[in-house]
Amino acid sequence: MQGQADGPRRAAESDSDKGRRGRQGAAGQGRHDFFGEFGGRYVAEVLRSPLDELEIAFDEAISDSAFQRELDGVLRDYVGRPTPLIAADRISDQIGGARIYVKQEGLAATGAHKVNNAVGQALLARRMGKSRIIAETGAGQHGVAVAAVCARLGLACDVYMGELDMRRQKPNVFWMERYGARVLPVAGGSATLKDAVNEALRDWSASFEDTHYLLGSVLGPSPFPDMVREFQAVIGRETQAQCAERGIEPAALLACVGGGSNAIGFFSPYLENEGTRLIGVEAGGRGTDPGEHAARMRGLGRPGIVHGYKSLFLLDEDGQVLPTHSVSAGLDYPGIGPQLAHLGRTGRVEFRRATDQEALEALDYFARTEGLLFALESAHGAAAAPAVAMEYSNDQAIVLNMSGRGDKDLFIGARELDREGWKRFLKEEYESL
Ligand SMILES: *Cc1c(COP(=O)(O)O)cnc(C)c1O
Repeated sequence: MQGQADGPRRAAESDSDKGRRGRQGAAGQGRHDFFGEFGGRYVAEVLRSPLDELEIAFDEAISDSAFQRELDGVLRDYVGRPTPLIAADRISDQIGGARIYVKQEGLAATGAHKVNNAVGQALLARRMGKSRIIAETGAGQHGVAVAAVCARLGLACDVYMGELDMRRQKPNVFWMERYGARVLPVAGGSATLKDAVNEALRDWSASFEDTHYLLGSVLGPSPFPDMVREFQAVIGRETQAQCAERGIEPAALLACVGGGSNAIGFFSPYLENEGTRLIGVEAGGRGTDPGEHAARMRGLGRPGIVHGYKSLFLLDEDGQVLPTHSVSAGLDYPGIGPQLAHLGRTGRVEFRRATDQEALEALDYFARTEGLLFALESAHGAAAAPAVAMEYSNDQAIVLNMSGRGDKDLFIGARELDREGWKRFLKEEYESL
């Protein structure tokens, strides 16, 4: 497969991105990537040297064919790439309009796209001589992917997780521990993802000699947004090759957007291709009131600097980070990756929202009609697909990224879709213990 042999490389940059490199930081050292006004490296002095070291190592690695071969090998033999591109024919026939195709990242090891980035960064860390990996996790999906990859590569793994999240996401804590990772509870603040990020950064400030911080989305200080995008761009490159094999030129690509890593990885090879619309779908939750959703675009987010980067965040009047809500834990984050914030502003990427209810309905519809069980996150993209398809005729095609599969959502899905049956099951399970 074409996309396989390519290995990681910098995706073509759009016009609006040109010129962002070569910018000097306040201290006048090294380049700091901005995407328009967003991005940057707003960190304490002590983190400058590990970020510089990481940036240099990453730039060297991606232009080294030996590293690319190693990465391609792990993606093929462990992750199971390339993932299939599936025609959703029954749904396309029912809806009319453009034919809908699904890029099935749910078949990647550990069940979602997150493993692509985990493998890339873990191999980079090993190449840099680091023996320990730390990561933050919210819902636990990133933590599970990192824990699995560290077990595979023989690296020590500590995952920071908010205490509240550990209670809510017990199954993922259990799986991380099976993979041999230590899950470190974070009690401060709201005891959720943002506090886990702060704790991971604090650890890294003192441990970077032997430790790599494996950040989970296209967020954080430079070079993370660039690096994570490049490790996820394998999704878009495979899609391009698989579409070319079938003679498809997609009219639109659709993906859900939390931090934005599956979306930008899927979109990035298409950024220059103006003939393909790029559509990101955010978590509309229960409505647009503060605290009820996790949508940052279309006027809901404000510019701010959080966790070392500038982007659009859900903030209150005082600039404090607002609570967020989504039925899907993976989209439940107040910030969006700086490159997507910029591409939204320039209009290259369009943003829509899907509510909790719409995502749950899409999950059911794709499961029942196509035998595809979407993760709740990915189901937000699926919810937007029929309306987009109907804007086109049936000789055109759109591609929907299924960022993950839904098995992990048993506890939330069953509570929402089969409350009584689930209650009975849990009660009987408990009594049998
Ligand atoms: C974590 C996650 C997301 C959201 O993260 P992005 O960085 O926006 O891709 C989406 N889908 C699945 C299945 C996830 O696990």
